[in-house]
Amino acid sequence: MPVSTKAFAAQSATTPLAPFSIDRRDPGPKDVAIDILFCGVCHSDLHTVRGEWEGTLFPCVPGHEIVGRVSAVGNDVTKFAVGDIAGVGCMVGSCGHCPSCNEGEEQYCETTGFVGTYNGPDPVLGGHTLGGYSDHIVVDEGFVLKVGHDEADLAAVAPLLCAGITTYSPLKHWKVGPGQKVGIVGLGGLGHMGVKIAAAMGAEVYVFSTSPGKREDAKRLGATDLIVSKDADAMAEHAGSFDFILNTVAAPHDLDPFLVLLKRDGTMTLVGVPDAPHKSPSVGIMVFGRKSIAGSLIGGIAETQEMLDFCKEHGLTSDIEMIDIQEIETAYERMVKSDVKYRFVIDMASLKAA
Ligand code: NAP
Ligand code: ZN
Repeated sequence: MPVSTKAFAAQSATTPLAPFSIDRRDPGPKDVAIDILFCGVCHSDLHTVRGEWEGTLFPCVPGHEIVGRVSAVGNDVTKFAVGDIAGVGCMVGSCGHCPSCNEGEEQYCETTGFVGTYNGPDPVLGGHTLGGYSDHIVVDEGFVLKVGHDEADLAAVAPLLCAGITTYSPLKHWKVGPGQKVGIVGLGGLGHMGVKIAAAMGAEVYVFSTSPGKREDAKRLGATDLIVSKDADAMAEHAGSFDFILNTVAAPHDLDPFLVLLKRDGTMTLVGVPDAPHKSPSVGIMVFGRKSIAGSLIGGIAETQEMLDFCKEHGLTSDIEMIDIQEIETAYERMVKSDVKYRFVIDMASLKAA
């Protein structure tokens, strides 16, 4: 018998999120049931709920930066027990047997695609999956993460489940480390985690931002300096000097000024997914320097666990502003204006009280 759970949902791309009752499945043998304590607010939530990407299924309950306490486990669950603190990120399933799944890169599942924590096909109840802006969630243990941080830090751990892994994975894949000069474009939710993680990996980090007022924060987070990306003179000082650039910007923009800053053989990896295309980048800049533009999608489950453990070891969490779920639309408006320091996290106690 499915269990009714409180949530906040949008009924269409133009209606605000509002209280809504959803069903969660009874835990099956391999399932972990989690009472959600905190859920981070990712720009992907906003893109999805407002229909900025094609294919949003309504009612839509966003949220894929989930931390909570295990309330029940199925008979075959071995990694979790009632009372444990657990995390759920962007995925709750994948085919489990294609080459990508076999290599622990479930986010690139080649047969069915990964099952999103929201807006994916629900394999058990039918319909589509509903995310973490809710009281409770039931997830296959293969997609549940162990959280080792102190309980006092749990709200600030939630954003690691998407913003953390989405920056850790490409920084690791492109072997960022000591002796390298690394740029992070956009100081938002993803960007601020990118700064912290790249600095912890030993790189020299610069932030590229449209917001000059974020300079002191950039330095506090671990960057050497913030370069205002619209200041052509400041940008020119760094021409040809970056080993790697991670671009987290959520809006279409000109990529060429950043390609110019790469060294020969340098790569700029895009993780932002704007609702409209970027201007076509200059082939000449890439050819005359063997430069690459790449993309990267979240990270696999094993790598997400590795990232959580890395962050715990290095004392890293997200810089957050806690909100009640009733404030979600205001939080979205601020996110659109790049006014986030640096991740909104919903205190799910506010939903229980609603
Ligand atoms: P966010 O918190 O809103 O941060 C984005 C930042 O980009 C802003 O704070 C701002 O930083 C900068 N920015 C915004 N508009 C800009 C513009 N017009 N020109 C230049 N810079 C601009 O968003 P987020 O949650 O970090 O997500 C960023 C993007 O990554 C979204 O598109 C999201 O959907 C995507 N995403 C991708 C993955 C993946 O797996 N690839 C995972 C999660 C999210 P400054 O003020 O410093 O300029
Ligand atoms: Zn996300």
